[in-house]
Amino acid sequence: MLIPWRKVDAWTCLRCFYCCVEYNVYLTSWEAEWISRAYGIHIELTPKGWRLKRAGEPCPFLRRDQYGRSYCLINMDKPRACVSFPFVITRRPLRGESDKLAYYPTGRDRGVYVYVRDDCPGVGRGVPLEKALRRTLIKLGYMRRVA
Ligand code: SF4
Ligand code: SF4
Repeated sequence: MLIPWRKVDAWTCLRCFYCCVEYNVYLTSWEAEWISRAYGIHIELTPKGWRLKRAGEPCPFLRRDQYGRSYCLINMDKPRACVSFPFVITRRPLRGESDKLAYYPTGRDRGVYVYVRDDCPGVGRGVPLEKALRRTLIKLGYMRRVA
């Protein structure tokens, strides 16, 4: 289920890699081109866009180290879809114009609507949500870091 961000108090990534198995991962066209060239893997073009992996199947970049810990092989080149998880960030509200609990101002007269996927085990834990969200929005280029 998607919850407006203001209704969630905290989030931290527990590195459980649930999202790397249970979700479809779609890429932008430039990510699809870059990742397929750099890593030599086929990216499928579906009616919904470039799909790195299907829901329910492990990502081809998910690996395990000698201690049984999972990690992402392309951590430095992680697609935007992975960087943004568990947030769903949209320019338009998903539930009508009055969806104020989802609005996040990203600059003067600008903002986005943000929802949180409640099946991520890190939801409700660790860092205050606004701090984690702000960090994600800066990483994705929706807003600038303020010195
Ligand atoms: S499901 Fe949530 S806690 Fe687990 S790796 Fe993904 S973002 Fe992190
Ligand atoms: S690219 Fe990395 S973070 Fe994204 S689904 Fe694959 S293993 Fe997970």
